Amino acid sequence: PGVAPFVNEPAADFTQAAVRHAFPKAIARIRREFGATHPLFIGGENVVTGDVLDSYNPADVSEIVGSVCQAGPAEIDAAIAAAEEALPAWRATPVAERTKCLFEAARIARSRIFDLAVLQVLEVGKQWDQAHADVAEAIDFFEYYGREMLRLGADRRMGRVPGEVNRYRYRPRGVAAVIAPWNFPLAISAGMCSAALVTGNCVLYKPSGLSSVTGRVLADLFVEAGIPAGVFNFVPGRSSVMGDHLVGHPSVNLIAFTGSERVGLHIMQMAAQVAPGQRHLKRVVAEMGGKNACIIDDDAELDEAVRHVLYSAFGYQGQKCSACSRVIVHEAIYDRFVPRLVDAARSMRIGPAEDPACVMGPLVDRVAQQSVLEFIDVARAEGSVLLSRMPDGGPGGVDASQGCYVPLTIVEGITPEHRIAQEEAFGPVLAVMKAKDFDQAIEWANSTRFALTGAVFSRSPAHLEQAARDFAVGNLYLNRNCTGALVERQPFGGFAMSGIGSKAGGPDYLLQFMEPYVVTENT
Ligand code: NAP
Repeated sequence: PGVAPFVNEPAADFTQAAVRHAFPKAIARIRREFGATHPLFIGGENVVTGDVLDSYNPADVSEIVGSVCQAGPAEIDAAIAAAEEALPAWRATPVAERTKCLFEAARIARSRIFDLAVLQVLEVGKQWDQAHADVAEAIDFFEYYGREMLRLGADRRMGRVPGEVNRYRYRPRGVAAVIAPWNFPLAISAGMCSAALVTGNCVLYKPSGLSSVTGRVLADLFVEAGIPAGVFNFVPGRSSVMGDHLVGHPSVNLIAFTGSERVGLHIMQMAAQVAPGQRHLKRVVAEMGGKNACIIDDDAELDEAVRHVLYSAFGYQGQKCSACSRVIVHEAIYDRFVPRLVDAARSMRIGPAEDPACVMGPLVDRVAQQSVLEFIDVARAEGSVLLSRMPDGGPGGVDASQGCYVPLTIVEGITPEHRIAQEEAFGPVLAVMKAKDFDQAIEWANSTRFALTGAVFSRSPAHLEQAARDFAVGNLYLNRNCTGALVERQPFGGFAMSGIGSKAGGPDYLLQFMEPYVVTENT
């Protein structure tokens, strides 16, 4: 009651001079704050530790964005104690009040949207528009989950038998560990944390080591929005030091994880073990990787398909779980589509995300750079390289050695048996596969262990319908790019090895953070 219907936060409109000018100003402002050491936040207090981790700008690894204190097992124990202490009061806080904190977080984030976006430009190398979209998505999660909790917070009456009232209700699970990736450093963290908080859980939030300065900003947002002490705890840490301790802790009831398949599987195994003293089974929500395909049918509108495939494959350097890493092309159109795709990719400017003319930038860190370079070696061995492009050097160009660049790579001659048709690269590497017909294209699209996103470009209603039925992914897009799902409009998430959990930004998401129960009264 009294809450306006949900609408998505608008994308940045760069035709407006005020928006264009806001970015460079924010870049200068945020740079002035570089070099700070950011403490943990436990039980309402900042906590400084001896161990700190530097977060650097991937376009220039000598530039330190900030240093972040690292939690070890002792700090995790302290945060769990604080969360347990805060839990009874937070659980009993009326839904309307918990919800208000999310709406307040949305308001504050909106008022600082450029600063929050620019921090991502500099900390994880996100292009201006995409960094802005990430903050907008965080705002959407606050606004949407707040409204969802108002809907779910009301008792539901079950059955219609005289003399009996059955009320179906939800209670929080307890202490939630939120473990987040760096690639949507604010949005995914904000989504998982706000869902856990608004449903009445207390949170220990561990951001990725690569985006912990942005993680700290999220903690500040929640504090300013009125989340009480102990309810939200910021505990970045080296996963090798504190990961198992956090996941395996007997007082953790729920783990909300988004990240790689490897880590997700490890977390599920750890969470399945019942520690001495533990009196519950842990619920794990795990959103993992993808090996997403775009299919180009023989009657596809090629201007559209080229543009959307490039954006899907190389937007944010391919570092999206939803990124397209396979383009499966009908052989009848192969010779018309592929050269155009390669020509268009040749015209993409590569360089720092800070420069709005550059549509592709460096990978997030030196480790990612090394692993994608190795993946590119596999691609070279398995297929034939159609394009391999680094940033333009020379006078006025980019010194690629300063940043974590890898070549934008397009490889043809790939079939489902190849490793680069099966493994997630998480970089700008696109495998081109030539299918003999539409049936084979669908079969190949489904030939990986992942099931996250996919796209089909076709003018044939029968083929679009066939894809809607048979292309087995969590988010299928017809005649558009396969990235950029919006909260409420395209609830997001996959199945198979892409994850276990219901869709983020969708109507079932909050249910995972609560236990349903029924109160039956004999009247
Ligand atoms: P990652 O390496 O799996 O790390 C994810 C998080 O897990 C980080 O905070 C990491 O911390 C932490 N972690 C690592 N080992 C851990 C352990 N043993 N115990 C507890 N926590 C541990 O993934 P990433 O590189 O950040 O993100 C990229 C991956 O995420 C890709 O595979 C992508 O597809 C996937 N992703 C999926 C979705 C989706 O919705 N399906 C969305 C975005 C990204 P440290 O960084 O400190 O090691």
